[in-house]
Amino acid sequence: MYPMSELPIALSGDIAQLTVGHAYIIEGGLPDRINIGHAFAKRLNCLDALPGSISACDTCLSCRVLESGNHPDIFFVKGTKATGIGVDDVRDQIVSPMATQPFKYRYKVFIIDKAETLTPAAQNALLKTIEEPAPYGVFLFLAAHVHTLLPTLLSRCVLVKLGETEDIPDLEAQALAEEIASTIADMDVLDAILLYRRFEPYKESRESTANMLDMLYLSYARRVTQAALMGEKIQNIWYDSIAAIQHTKQVLAQNGNFQLAIELMLLKLSGIKENT
Ligand SMILES: [Zn+2]
Repeated sequence: MYPMSELPIALSGDIAQLTVGHAYIIEGGLPDRINIGHAFAKRLNCLDALPGSISACDTCLSCRVLESGNHPDIFFVKGTKATGIGVDDVRDQIVSPMATQPFKYRYKVFIIDKAETLTPAAQNALLKTIEEPAPYGVFLFLAAHVHTLLPTLLSRCVLVKLGETEDIPDLEAQALAEEIASTIADMDVLDAILLYRRFEPYKESRESTANMLDMLYLSYARRVTQAALMGEKIQNIWYDSIAAIQHTKQVLAQNGNFQLAIELMLLKLSGIKENT
């Protein structure tokens, strides 16, 4: 768990002075940004924290139900599609629950990890809720990089940066690689190309991109090995995908166009043949 004593000053200061804002963006790697969002949400709804103290008590009902994963007023927003967090997700998981008072505690806290995957339409759908916040509503947007968020959203949030975030941690790359390898074959062409948005944070770092592609390669290599061990059929698309990933790595190593290379790769991973 992230030590509360190391909570960024922008957050700890707000808690100590009881001037909690309604929307924060916490930019940083994993697991820090999740731990901080979690610790902040916990403190906000803690029933026994001393005024001015930045620490939650860890023993009250709110603190305990959060740890058990069933807090009625702290929401972990998740995209229901691999292409990111869409308008429907925002309506169902944020706008709609925000319309009613907290179930039991002081704040309704919405923790939105991978905020950079909010589609532009989803970000627009959020603006009104953020602009005219319910007094009990708090948004914590967590992101590896904020540069893909709309300026209209950014301008309404307090930005908290957790140090330099040039390189994207392995954990995150691995999660994305696994997610893509397990879902892309079922996607239509448009959704497959839309997945490019998930690669945007990698654009600025050559090293992170190469690392990400290695993870993707491993996801497919693992499928081949597993199928071979289980005596199952090895699918052609896995071989095609491995070749496409290797090719993309080469293209990018030779300074090819990032977006074009990634989009072409995604098309191939989705099963589109070059000559059809
Ligand atoms: Zn507590």
